[in-house]
Amino acid sequence: MPQEMIKVYDTLSAKKEVLMPRVPGQIKIYGCGPTVYGYTHVGNGRTFLTQDLVVRILRLAGYQVLYARNYTDIDDKIILKAEAEKKTSEAVASFYTKAFDQNMADLEIVKPDYSPRATETIPSIIQMIEGLIKKNLAYVSNGDVYYRVDKFARYGCLSHRKLKDMMTGTRIEADEQKENVVDFALWKNAKPGEPSWKSPWGSGRPGWHIECSAMIHDIFDDALDIHMGGLDLIFPHHENEIAQSEGLTEKKLATYWVHGGMLEVGKEKMSKSLGNLMTISDFIKDYGAETMRLLFAQNHYRSPLEFSSEAILRSEALVDRLYLCKKKALESSASAPTKLPAELEALNSRIKESLFDDFNGAKAMGLILAAARVCFRENKPEFWKAWGDCLSLLDEVFGLTKRDPDQALSENRNRRLARMKISAEESQRIDSKLLERLSLREQKKFAEADQVRKDLETQGIVVMDGPDGTTWTVAV
Ligand SMILES: [Zn+2]
Repeated sequence: MPQEMIKVYDTLSAKKEVLMPRVPGQIKIYGCGPTVYGYTHVGNGRTFLTQDLVVRILRLAGYQVLYARNYTDIDDKIILKAEAEKKTSEAVASFYTKAFDQNMADLEIVKPDYSPRATETIPSIIQMIEGLIKKNLAYVSNGDVYYRVDKFARYGCLSHRKLKDMMTGTRIEADEQKENVVDFALWKNAKPGEPSWKSPWGSGRPGWHIECSAMIHDIFDDALDIHMGGLDLIFPHHENEIAQSEGLTEKKLATYWVHGGMLEVGKEKMSKSLGNLMTISDFIKDYGAETMRLLFAQNHYRSPLEFSSEAILRSEALVDRLYLCKKKALESSASAPTKLPAELEALNSRIKESLFDDFNGAKAMGLILAAARVCFRENKPEFWKAWGDCLSLLDEVFGLTKRDPDQALSENRNRRLARMKISAEESQRIDSKLLERLSLREQKKFAEADQVRKDLETQGIVVMDGPDGTTWTVAV
């Protein structure tokens, strides 16, 4: 199958480039995975949905994609959690690995072809560290091993920083173990009671950065096309991966570095340490997996996304709207072939054009939603039939509208009512009030229509008018 031309924004060159695979027709992708010490939050969910989007688009474009995503199952945070919960690190890691896998399955994120674990990569990690010591790029210090950063000339190439600035800019207290404050740990000497593996430098465990370098070496023989992760991993994690892998092999670790934007809450990154989290499980329980997919799909993968209840509720309503479109499209599919409405002409090829231009799912989704608005306005079978052509792309690329429309609409409704603690009768009453309001507005009785809205508001119901119709929610 011939492949489409793809453009990709590369963090290293800071340019959009034409994707040139190392092996024609094949793309090897590595995405940094979760550290399994707690439930995965929606911010990390965005990172994995961005990887999912890229893999799906590349497959749509005809490439054979080999996708690896790791589990960091040994780490300081896991050890701390195990101590706090009086469990072993293995028990903590295995529990949260299962929880993560469940989240990924619920979100229908594409399954990686390789899912390496740090604890299963120890021999390769040790081998790599030995190689770095031999090349004078690493040194042993009291059972720890550190990377000698000032020996790697390109350090800072990915984050576009200068080593000199990093050294003056860091406020890390002097560490007697290290030759230089910017040096980072490849291997950590184990304290009593901590999980450890035997090594030439004594019992210990690997640092975080080296595991990804070792996995890419094992799985892809250091010949990676795309390395992915959230923007927050550029420095130091990915910078350190480059120093480790390229320092050792003297080959480029990845042709392209693709980084996804953060999810922000009030302009702050969503993170465990900031305490502004919503877990993926809680989100799905309250709003459904498709709402999360659509929320992210409407924003460019590289842009920051402001996480707000308004944005979630808008996406939730849009999911229903897409199912209504699907219902209409299926009902119209048997209608007689007519000339395609000009506004919907070449819809699919315009969607694909956006997707293949640096994975611009946001633009593609904008086209789909705009076309839906035209269909609602015209409400003619040939329009719906034409719109129906993008249904397979909605499923294939965005993982949306897979369910039967009637079933999905009723399930979504029940979930929403349960969340708002509203009975079916009450919800019917609100819907009929809104229909009444709509007809008052059509009769240009605006004062009466406004009164209906005000009455609902005094009962704690918020009415939201948008370009895609009116929805309501319970005030919080
Ligand atoms: Zn990594």
